[in-house]
Amino acid sequence: MPSPVELSDSVEDYLEAIHRLSATPEGVSTTALARQLEVTPASVTGMLRRLSELGLITYRRYRDIALTRSGQRHAREVIRRHRLAERLLTDVLGVPLAEAHDEARRLEHAVSPALEARIAETLGEPKVCPHGHPLDPAAADRTMSLAEAPLNRALVVTRLEDESPEVIRHLTERKLLPGARVRVKAREPLDGTVIMDVEGDTQPLGPKVAASIRVRRAQRARRRPARRSGDLGRA
Ligand SMILES: [Zn+2]
Ligand SMILES: [Zn+2]
Repeated sequence: MPSPVELSDSVEDYLEAIHRLSATPEGVSTTALARQLEVTPASVTGMLRRLSELGLITYRRYRDIALTRSGQRHAREVIRRHRLAERLLTDVLGVPLAEAHDEARRLEHAVSPALEARIAETLGEPKVCPHGHPLDPAAADRTMSLAEAPLNRALVVTRLEDESPEVIRHLTERKLLPGARVRVKAREPLDGTVIMDVEGDTQPLGPKVAASIRVRRAQRARRRPARRSGDLGRA
């Protein structure tokens, strides 16, 4: 079996970005990659050639950029390490959620497979990052965005798509974090502003942020059967 390839930090960043973008309606393009990684389109072009030589992606004239099976595997490994690093930062080191993503982007390249296993074990094998993204990026997604959620239904926030510090700070102030119980009360027809009930508090939410918050229907609380025998004879 060939020994595992040591990939440079920037190769890992590219694989991660391609994986992320391929799940968006926008798709993977030189422009989208340049924007996401804050580099020039020319350097993206150079890196795409290199990734293709390494057998990690396929593309045609810098279009139809897709991860190969090997690229896919490497991308998932980086994403898992990133999300696990975020858990370590917030749960153990007390780093504020708004700073976790950027810190983890540095840490994710430094964690060896042995250390990764150790961290996962110490944290009790978590399934999601503190923003609610599954550690296994291939896990099935049965959620909907707040922008498309039905009105007046009990919902639970499962995932925050946008992990940028400004957005997370904004959502932290509004208590709109994974696990929060919410309800969509109305949607403004003109600008798409969502009127929300968050843990009993009514507040408006802009359409862009609403679209980046994933929710699922809340499970009804299970009713405990009354224990009649205990009620008898004790009055
Ligand atoms: Zn992150
Ligand atoms: Zn995260």
